[in-house]
Amino acid sequence: AEKLKKDTSEIIKKLMSLGVMATKNEELEKTSIELIANDYGVTVEEEEIVDQLDIELYEDPDDDPDKLEERAPVVTIMGHVDHGKTTLLDGIRKTKVTDTEAGGITQHIGAYQVEENGKKVTFLDTPGHAAFTTMRARGAQATDITILVVAADDGVMPQTVEALNHAKAAEVPIIVAVNKMDKENANPDRVMQELTEYQLVPEAWGGETIFVNVSAVKGDGIDELLEMILLVAEVEELKANPAKRAQGTVVEAELDKGRGPVATLLVQGGTMNVGDPVVVGNTYGRVRAMTNEVGRRVKNAGPSTPVEITGLNGVPEAGDQFLVFADEKKAKQIGEGRANRAKEAERKQTSRVSLDDLFHQIQEGEIKEINIIIKADVQGSVEAVRGSLEKIDVAGVKVNIIHTGVGAITESDVILASASNAIVIGFNVRPGANAKRTAEVEDVDIRLHRVIYNAIEEIEAAMKGLLDPEY
Ligand code: GDP
Repeated sequence: AEKLKKDTSEIIKKLMSLGVMATKNEELEKTSIELIANDYGVTVEEEEIVDQLDIELYEDPDDDPDKLEERAPVVTIMGHVDHGKTTLLDGIRKTKVTDTEAGGITQHIGAYQVEENGKKVTFLDTPGHAAFTTMRARGAQATDITILVVAADDGVMPQTVEALNHAKAAEVPIIVAVNKMDKENANPDRVMQELTEYQLVPEAWGGETIFVNVSAVKGDGIDELLEMILLVAEVEELKANPAKRAQGTVVEAELDKGRGPVATLLVQGGTMNVGDPVVVGNTYGRVRAMTNEVGRRVKNAGPSTPVEITGLNGVPEAGDQFLVFADEKKAKQIGEGRANRAKEAERKQTSRVSLDDLFHQIQEGEIKEINIIIKADVQGSVEAVRGSLEKIDVAGVKVNIIHTGVGAITESDVILASASNAIVIGFNVRPGANAKRTAEVEDVDIRLHRVIYNAIEEIEAAMKGLLDPEY
């Protein structure tokens, strides 16, 4: 309204006539904006906003090598269930969290920092590889070193192998902590023997993997373990630039009854300050308060430091990236843009027809007609496929052929399918490169066949819910 120099109420009325119920603070979809502007003879141009959060953050190409400083290693503990991951994390925390002055009570914020020989080590406090992999799947590479815990009385177990494979896939160095050494039947040699099968060969046997014997309950070996972590960290030459706006990854987040959205962030580059405008995943805000792992208020947090923050407008997800902005307006703009895109993507996802989901959508009453586009190599085949498909009638749902043609599946076929929520069937033809790309972007289901009977059967099976899901 401001840009068009019109009354807000007038615009709202126009929107209502278009079937859009909007309030005056609401963000509109592009098509609605275009329709309204068109009405007033105004052309709409979209302002290009660079969303830095979509760019790989951690390896900032602008980071001047002179500004890089040593940073603490970030460590994740993985291993088989009951081998002592939680006990080890608790043991390290109890004996090593430095901030022990009066009033400091350790809190579970998802990560903590300890000190050994004057150097810091950061532990991610969610044991197990599920958290590690979820974060990695979301593009976050937050771990520098993995501690693989193996119980000396139990040896290598299925989740031990899973965990080491996850660490290897992420190219994260592994230190083996052979735990429960206090037990009578502890057999560390067996653990070493078993792990050589997975290319984790101890140094004593000519390999490169560090093994440390520990007892998480007794606290034995914890100092040595920390020293080994620092040794590996030194080799890895972990560095970051503390002199820039903070960036990093969400470790965990939740909605607190009193404080609102609370998120534990791992600062990976730069320094975070109270008051900083920040975008965190699809949320944004201004850092209201920052606390460390003993619940103490801090004013700033540099690289490898975990802090719990409040002040966001929503709850982000573990593994989300965050970035501090120079001004709050920009943070709001980027944050809202991200939230809208996420919403849009979700909407698209749920409303698109796909054969795998067809039965469910029919049952839910979401569709009464299935729109189909047929492309084939010869006209005879087009007619044959059309004839058979039009005869299908399952539970009162009709097949509706909206377009047919001879030749390859083109981009325009895919756009049509996208616009009318249709499935494309190709009979002895394939999609061109552009069509393929557009289909991926628009999430259009393309099914290719060489036998007419198979094409018919597939659609029928999908409508009856008998289709084997495609993975
Ligand atoms: P997680 O599933 O890997 O997190 O394993 P937990 O830390 O929950 O430990 C599983 C069980 O092993 C608990 O009963 C612990 O008390 C016990 N445990 C852990 N570490 C040790 C250890 O060093 N020695 C002995 N004897 N028991 C341990």
